[in-house]
Amino acid sequence: MPEAAPRLARDLALLGGSPLFSAKLHVGGPNVEGREALFRRIGEALDRRWLTNNGELLLEFEARLAQLLGVRHALVLCNGTVALEIVARALDLSGEVIVPSFTFIATAHALKWQQIEPVFVEVAERDHLMDPEAVERAITPRTTAILAVHTWGQPCHVEALEDIARRHGLKLVFDAAHAFACADAGRPIGGFGDAEVFSFHATKFFHTFEGGAITTNDDDLARRIKLMRNFGFTGFDNVESVGVNGKMSEVGAAMGLTNLDQLDHLIAVNRRNFARYREALRGLPGVELLDVPEGARRNFQHVVLQVKEGCALHRDDLVEALWAENIIARRYFYPGCHRMEPYRSEKAWDLPITDRVAGSVVILPTGTAVGDAEVDAVAGAIRAILEQADAVRTALVGRPRLVTQAMRVV
Ligand SMILES: *Cc1c(COP(=O)(O)O)cnc(C)c1O
Repeated sequence: MPEAAPRLARDLALLGGSPLFSAKLHVGGPNVEGREALFRRIGEALDRRWLTNNGELLLEFEARLAQLLGVRHALVLCNGTVALEIVARALDLSGEVIVPSFTFIATAHALKWQQIEPVFVEVAERDHLMDPEAVERAITPRTTAILAVHTWGQPCHVEALEDIARRHGLKLVFDAAHAFACADAGRPIGGFGDAEVFSFHATKFFHTFEGGAITTNDDDLARRIKLMRNFGFTGFDNVESVGVNGKMSEVGAAMGLTNLDQLDHLIAVNRRNFARYREALRGLPGVELLDVPEGARRNFQHVVLQVKEGCALHRDDLVEALWAENIIARRYFYPGCHRMEPYRSEKAWDLPITDRVAGSVVILPTGTAVGDAEVDAVAGAIRAILEQADAVRTALVGRPRLVTQAMRVV
């Protein structure tokens, strides 16, 4: 656990002090609980000499997922992006598919990679979820599907989208990468639309190192997905259709089973951190946490701070000042898919609400690497940075930005 120094009359790191945290505190730091159970399961797979291709661990993992999510089929894959691509293929999507621009780039890329055009629409400022009215306006004769995102684990406007899809004869898929173990009015996310897609990437609160899953109640669709994730094989020597390698190994399944055992604990930690952030940041002018309704079933993996208009600091300056403290807060999903290639060069997108939302969000660290001391320290840093906004802004003039430098990977 990173060391949290109490903030006692020390200078902000940007103003000459030492960073609040001695090691970087990340958003999406992986949860690594229960390693004895993990190693036992991996050991058993090694003893069996069965490492992938419908191994015992994978079958157990899929059965437990289907039961947890209340769905007929939970099919596990190598990652969430390939899962989205396979769903697009298995549903025979083509032409245009309507998606929010305010999402992780994989939502759009999974379509584009299949020569399908993502058509970006607005989200609502209130909840960052795709606006059903904007969806309906974006439908053209080339539209084949709606791909909605349960952003931050909040259920999309499922009924409105189902209604639109039904009236226009469109497929409906949900990118549920954020929404594992969440529910919409008591119904678990996983059973909506034609299919839902989860990501079990290491940065998600529930992970399998790399991994993902497709859930569906459609038996035919499940069969096509199973074929596609394993080269189209139906038996040792028989291939029925074109496919790829979308399989998860037994090591991934071992991690998944282990994290399933930990699920209540992982959510409890996130919930506790969220509640503490909410208390610590309450009443702070210029910023506001995106709240979770009382009693809603959520995983609390995203602590979403919104920098409001009139805040003493620009969002990017706040993030820069946090980074200087080794608090690696993130600007998800900045600048929005429509402002990234290849999409931005293809069309003059006009998505002012998305621009505003993408320009105002700061995701704060949570998960099992974060406890009360870290939450208090992060909230204290935000408070101190905003209180010294003028000095922070002056210190940042002409200074190379940590955020931009760190992002340069190629
Ligand atoms: C993480 C994520 C994905 C991609 O999942 P991978 O498992 O990393 O391929 C897709 N969509 C959203 C919204 C995500 O957050």
